[in-house]
Amino acid sequence: MQSAIRKVVIIGGGTAGWLTAGLLAARHRADSNRALEIVLIESPDIPTIGVGEGTWPSMRMTLQKIGISEADLVRNCDASFKQGTEFVDWSSTGGDSRYYHPFSFPAEYSSLKLANYWLEAADRFSFADFVTPQASVIEAGLAPKQVSTPEYAFNVNYGYHFDAGRFAELLHKHVVDKLGVTYVSANVGSVESHDSGDIDAVVLTSGERVQGDLFVDCTGQRSLLIGQHYGIDVVSMKKFLFNDAAIAVQVPYSKPDDPIASATRATAVECGWIWDIGLQTRRGIGHVYSTAHADEAQAMASIRDYVTRTSPGVQLDDLTFRSIPFEPGYRREFWVNNCVAVGLSGGFIEPLEASALALIEQAASIISEQFPANRELMSVVARRFNARMLYHWERVIEFLKLHYVLSERDDSDYWRDCRSLETCPSELRDKLMLWQQQPPWHDDAPRVDELFPSASYQYVLYGMQFRPEYVYIQGDSDAEERARVDRLLHTNSDKTRQMLSLLPTNRELVSAMTALRGVA
Ligand SMILES: Cc1cc2nc3c(=O)[nH]c(=O)nc-3n(C[C@H](O)[C@H](O)[C@H](O)COP(=O)(O)OP(=O)(O)OC[C@H]3O[C@@H](n4cnc5c(N)ncnc54)[C@H](O)[C@@H]3O)c2cc1C
Repeated sequence: MQSAIRKVVIIGGGTAGWLTAGLLAARHRADSNRALEIVLIESPDIPTIGVGEGTWPSMRMTLQKIGISEADLVRNCDASFKQGTEFVDWSSTGGDSRYYHPFSFPAEYSSLKLANYWLEAADRFSFADFVTPQASVIEAGLAPKQVSTPEYAFNVNYGYHFDAGRFAELLHKHVVDKLGVTYVSANVGSVESHDSGDIDAVVLTSGERVQGDLFVDCTGQRSLLIGQHYGIDVVSMKKFLFNDAAIAVQVPYSKPDDPIASATRATAVECGWIWDIGLQTRRGIGHVYSTAHADEAQAMASIRDYVTRTSPGVQLDDLTFRSIPFEPGYRREFWVNNCVAVGLSGGFIEPLEASALALIEQAASIISEQFPANRELMSVVARRFNARMLYHWERVIEFLKLHYVLSERDDSDYWRDCRSLETCPSELRDKLMLWQQQPPWHDDAPRVDELFPSASYQYVLYGMQFRPEYVYIQGDSDAEERARVDRLLHTNSDKTRQMLSLLPTNRELVSAMTALRGVA
């Protein structure tokens, strides 16, 4: 008889720890057969990373599963609505090169290759404008839905921008008060193991032992269990993606009712790029750069220049700029013995498409949905978890590299190195060759749990001005399909007009939701 898994110990109270606790508790607390006990230990001395403000639409489902209302998120976390990313200056310098990677799929994407038809009209429309109303909605600074639209429902797909610290606090309160997770504020000092190599207990610096059956390492960059205890190293991804440091700053709006951008803006600069995220009361701005190509003083000058250009009236000396080094890569294994790493402890790569929280959601969902009933099953779940997370990491690396390798920027060694095909993963090189004759399609991202569907590849590829050499544009179309496309384009432009007239601004929607404070 294998020993049952009855107690989970999560170390770390950042977003990774609380999301994992929330998803696990929400799924298992009602299961009287299992009676799963969940304990979360968080150091009172080690702060969370404090960044991670851009999320994906998947966060809506995660919050629903955990049982948090959207109104609570908006009221408590300085949150606003995010509909995708706007990329500025990525293909060339000077401000003219801009495109959107919106969250909505191109219309009728499952069965219609609109990209083929867009290629005929590429000199007149941006790809995103051709296939979805969402680019226009973002451009106009509008919300993804009306004030009366039910929670989590939408006119166009969306995720959130929020304050990472306040988000962790909201999760903490909900998960402890409503889902019965036990919280321990203490430092883990050491680990005690069984002869099998499984962890028996973590020992707090007070001397108290906390035993468990499964240990989740959410200790961030310290990687206390998977890195320090098990010695699993980081597979560096610097050969593909050079960025290994960030400088982050919070910038207040000049007026409380300044517009809130509906997408993250990612502006490419000489030795990296700068994120710009609009919350209710401030913007979160950060410069991600490569220390092999620029020192901290150069990076600081670059972000200070960006803040000055984009934030009239702001006094730079009033702002606090914070440096955050990171090692781009992921752990060789994520689940070892009875210990699984979720969040930064398992790896991190630059936040160009804000994929870290989405990876946390994936990891925590797998753990909770495939939760092993006993120790023997845990080894099976662990092998599958490792294979699945590795697949996701490899796709994230490829997708991020796509943004660089297609650039025509030639203004620094950084960009020349980023563009070099030598620094491109071989699978991506193959795909780029294929896309010379056919747009990215379902075969290029075939799995149901794919983080980046082929539509995302289309948005970036065509936004970056990639044009196929050999595409046989209308080869497989017939008159009926062409008529369907024409109808669709009309519908899209009607929908665009309607949305532009009906939707409130991002600011108006969050103001309406926060004004209802206390009414619900
Ligand atoms: C510059 C930058 C920008 C980012 N932007 C985005 C973004 O836009 N979108 C996105 O999805 N992600 C982003 N991320 C990633 C995101 O911030 C993280 O994935 C997310 O916050 C999860 O962090 P974490 O919980 O793993 O670690 P942390 O927040 O670092 O939490 C670690 C926890 O472990 C605890 N701890 C550590 N050691 C001990 C110990 N010995 N005993 C007890 N407790 C301990 C700490 O107290 C803390 O509670 C960004 C990351 C960086 C670096």
